[in-house]
Amino acid sequence: MADRWRPVWADIDLDAVEHNASVLCAVAGPAALCAVVKADGYGHGALPVARAALAGGASWLAVALVEEGVALREAGIETPILLLSEPPVEAMSEAVARRLVPTLYTRSGVRALGTVVGADGSPPVGVHLKVDTGMHRVGADPADVVPLARMIADDPALRLGAAWTHLAVADGAGPTDREFTALQLERFESALDRLDGAGLRPPITHVANSAGTIGVAAARRDLVRCGIALYGVAPTPALAEELAAATGGQRLEPVLSLRTRVTFVRDLDAGERLSYGRRRPLAERSTVATAPIGYADGVPRRLFDEGGEVLIGGVRRPLAGVVTMDQIVVDCGPVGGAPVEVGDEVVLLGRQGSEEITADEWAELLGTISYEVLCDIGPRVPRLVRGAGAGRADRPS
Ligand SMILES: *Cc1c(COP(=O)(O)O)cnc(C)c1O
Repeated sequence: MADRWRPVWADIDLDAVEHNASVLCAVAGPAALCAVVKADGYGHGALPVARAALAGGASWLAVALVEEGVALREAGIETPILLLSEPPVEAMSEAVARRLVPTLYTRSGVRALGTVVGADGSPPVGVHLKVDTGMHRVGADPADVVPLARMIADDPALRLGAAWTHLAVADGAGPTDREFTALQLERFESALDRLDGAGLRPPITHVANSAGTIGVAAARRDLVRCGIALYGVAPTPALAEELAAATGGQRLEPVLSLRTRVTFVRDLDAGERLSYGRRRPLAERSTVATAPIGYADGVPRRLFDEGGEVLIGGVRRPLAGVVTMDQIVVDCGPVGGAPVEVGDEVVLLGRQGSEEITADEWAELLGTISYEVLCDIGPRVPRLVRGAGAGRADRPS
């Protein structure tokens, strides 16, 4: 902490990552756990999260970008790292050099990868062929799966390592969503049958994200790709309960908490209005506290309008005015209540005493999902890694 002055930080609890990974392994087993650490581990820090997830039983990692995979390799991670989308043609040779496991779904991708794999007798590169079964983001049309698998099989530099797909509404509990998930699984099975018929069945298949892992037994297969649950956020409250029921009461533990300290306090009269726009008058003479975190750090400006609160002294306190770029103002209640002082800890996300504010609470207020809340916490916020795994950050895995 000596290298900075602003009291703002995100605690990253690696024991929680390890616990969440082991719970996911228990629910998914015998399927292996692939820990999804794209987007700098959903804003938590990809490297420490990756190490803690591996310690908790994960045996694969997944990232969105070749760049993200390279960073993990440079830090000494030796585990298989899956690329969740087809790498750009220009990145294929780096992906191969770093032993990243490429996802492919186009003919040009298969050709480009084949070209960059050395003709030096190095073993063929295992390709994960992605099938679009209805998400319609990326993936091969089911009708293209056999021809693409054939191209891969016919290239001595490549081999078919897996076939996989991605569910669009695995977190949906309604009948329409359940039917769509069933349809996606059916389309995937039928693509696998056609691969089988062509003598091209891949050794492994994978389908499930966190929601699929917890809620859709048929999606578990050989490998499950979990992101949000690893960070301690259940895809939905119902799935949190399903997980507990399936694991004898185990719960996911939130990994990240966002904290700051009070830097300024004053008492203001009833009717005073705080911050830009002077949006809301104080109902009575009140103590107000300022803390040095703002929308530039990922605290959404709209949190004030939507009734956002923080914890000070273990008590929920509403924002007193609109969130600014670098600071928030907090209504600490009528003068004469529990004292609030400069230096007191302010919790934006996480636990303090018996109170807790979750990423889901913000997501609910803001009309978004926990994923976006977590990923928006900006690079200006130092991540302080805690837990038994913290020391691992400096050691090769
Ligand atoms: C991000 C991602 C995941 C992880 O999803 P969660 O809902 O966070 O578990 C899995 N698979 C793919 C293809 C993804 O893009």
